[in-house]
Amino acid sequence: MDVAVVGGGVIGLAAAWRARQRGLEVAVLERAADLGTGASRAAAGMLAPVAEADLQERALLTANLESARRWPAFAAELADVTGIDVGYRACGTLLVARDRDEAEHVERERDARERLGLRVERMLGSAARRIEPALAPSLRLAIELPDDHAVEPLRVVAALAEACSRAGVRILPGVEVTDLDALPAERVVIAAGAWSGALGDVPVRPVKGQSLRLRDPSGPGLCDHVLRFEGGYLVPRGDGRYYLGATVEERGFDEAITALGVYELLREASEILPGILELEIEEALTGFRPGTPDNAPVIGADPRDERIVWATGHYRNGILLCPVTADLVAAALTGEASEHAGLRPDRFVPTAAPEAATP
Ligand SMILES: Cc1cc2nc3c(=O)[nH]c(=O)nc-3n(C[C@H](O)[C@H](O)[C@H](O)COP(=O)(O)OP(=O)(O)OC[C@H]3O[C@@H](n4cnc5c(N)ncnc54)[C@H](O)[C@@H]3O)c2cc1C
Repeated sequence: MDVAVVGGGVIGLAAAWRARQRGLEVAVLERAADLGTGASRAAAGMLAPVAEADLQERALLTANLESARRWPAFAAELADVTGIDVGYRACGTLLVARDRDEAEHVERERDARERLGLRVERMLGSAARRIEPALAPSLRLAIELPDDHAVEPLRVVAALAEACSRAGVRILPGVEVTDLDALPAERVVIAAGAWSGALGDVPVRPVKGQSLRLRDPSGPGLCDHVLRFEGGYLVPRGDGRYYLGATVEERGFDEAITALGVYELLREASEILPGILELEIEEALTGFRPGTPDNAPVIGADPRDERIVWATGHYRNGILLCPVTADLVAAALTGEASEHAGLRPDRFVPTAAPEAATP
């Protein structure tokens, strides 16, 4: 093999596909019996490139914005190659506030987007109810983000897996990699999500998220936009299914779904959209976001070992960042020039110390 990709989530699969398209012989090694059972399965699928909290991280913001722009073409290419629709919905997002504190936060989010030249519309709660009539009458303020859309992560995994196998990527499920040196491959891509830290020096930690898949037995229509609010978000799939997420917990690899976690998600969401309490619960989920110290992903060749390419640490934006990450990994593997230097691993992994001069 030219390339062994460790991890069969969205990042590993997308990177493998793009590497194969450049003519490399690629295998994906996934320890689970199925692909995409890690964070990729648990994700909401929002394509939300700007969060006020991350504005200090220019490298992340630039990559997020570029990846959001690329998603329509990426989705179309996947559909073309595989026949699988990844559920890209140009639904837009409403960011809503219940009280004065939340309204201040929403105003800051609006300012951040305006400074970046992005489209954003401020409206009172009453105006928000005209476009989403099921919103609670008590809402104070909202901003509409007409360019923040969503995809369905489960379908993205399915489409990427199909694209990989059609392109001739070898998919090896049930293979846990413990020793990178033992892999019979020229290069190794570490795309093991929240578990990547066990395979080298890049500091990746799991950030637990609990969420719910909900279904409206009476069909679609409760809301059409993605709704974001303090404490969570609701992503409509357009067919009566909804994703309600997500807690953010520093609890290691604790998989428990807790009464408190689920209660808080439903309580917050029902204050925004009371009708949510009529929905059926299809599934409660836990996932582990691959977090890094600066919340930005780590993509590129290891400065101490050129054989290793990192593609991890995508934290809350791994679905969004799929298109850009895949190309950056492929570029690192083929030696092509690429942008986004600020995402490289050398910010965490020091370059090799120069050899001491021999007297
Ligand atoms: C609740 C929640 C909501 C989210 N919402 C969004 C969202 O709306 N938008 C967005 O862009 N992102 C979102 N994310 C983030 C996104 O899910 C992740 O950033 C992304 O899925 C990371 O993909 P990955 O392929 O790196 O990791 P994963 O999907 O976790 O895949 C890693 C894979 O590596 C495998 N593996 C690990 N170790 C080994 C080993 N040693 N050998 C072989 N295989 C191994 C694992 O089994 C796993 O399948 C969310 C995450 C969570 C948890």
